[in-house]
Amino acid sequence: MSDPALDFTPTHGIAERVSSGIRRLTARNAGPLTFRGTNCYLLGDHEVTVIDPGPDDPTHVADLIAAAGAPIRRVVVTHDHADHAGAARRLSEMTGAEIVGPAPDPSRLLHRPDRIVADGETIRTEAGELRAIATPGHTASHVCYDLAGAGLLFSGDHVMGWSTSVVVPPDGRMADYMASLDRLVALGARIYLPGHGGPVADGLARVTELKRHRQAREAAILRALESDDRTIEEIVSAIYIGLDPALTKAAALSVMAHADWLEERGLVRRITDRLSRL
Ligand SMILES: [Zn+2]
Repeated sequence: MSDPALDFTPTHGIAERVSSGIRRLTARNAGPLTFRGTNCYLLGDHEVTVIDPGPDDPTHVADLIAAAGAPIRRVVVTHDHADHAGAARRLSEMTGAEIVGPAPDPSRLLHRPDRIVADGETIRTEAGELRAIATPGHTASHVCYDLAGAGLLFSGDHVMGWSTSVVVPPDGRMADYMASLDRLVALGARIYLPGHGGPVADGLARVTELKRHRQAREAAILRALESDDRTIEEIVSAIYIGLDPALTKAAALSVMAHADWLEERGLVRRITDRLSRL
């Protein structure tokens, strides 16, 4: 069966309507970690709010301004990775839009939000009221935005359409990521509009699947440690069969995030990059 989250071939430079009052422009940054590119969402047809402006690429920013076709008033950020928030400052300087988002990581400082959103705060847009939902895990300050009236959730990199999220310690924490998945379960049914990949029609089913996937990965790590201690690298080759070599580093970071969480719960011991069962 085809999956619209995966069967997704955006036309770069052209915004596509995904719902009433909401359009999507995919940046020209396709790659092994970004799939077809970062999705930027344009809310409103007369006064535009951009959710995740994308990478700081002048061609892409020109695409965004042209696609908006109306004044861009606000740039809302899910998290401060360069492929999502890189263009915030340039777009704001060119349009006068205010930047709204979580407190930025001081080590990145891609932009300074004019308004910092906290969990539960709302942002008024032409397409309806967005509510910030703190969803740490992929990064410490990741936020999803709920457009409850439309049954839509802008899920950023917390839940993606095409792959599981990368959780990179120390900014990303597996314990937080799992708790943030539970937050979305509590939210109920929504269509997810992710940062990468097409819409996820049944967000709740996707979140449940992601939880199961992480639990299975954790079980595989514990199994790999049953007979002997292993390094992170050895665990990666034992449990990720047929992995695209371009993703080896991402897999190692994910195993490290799992290792931290197992260690926090007293299930493994870690000395440098060598793990053992307790
Ligand atoms: Zn990210």
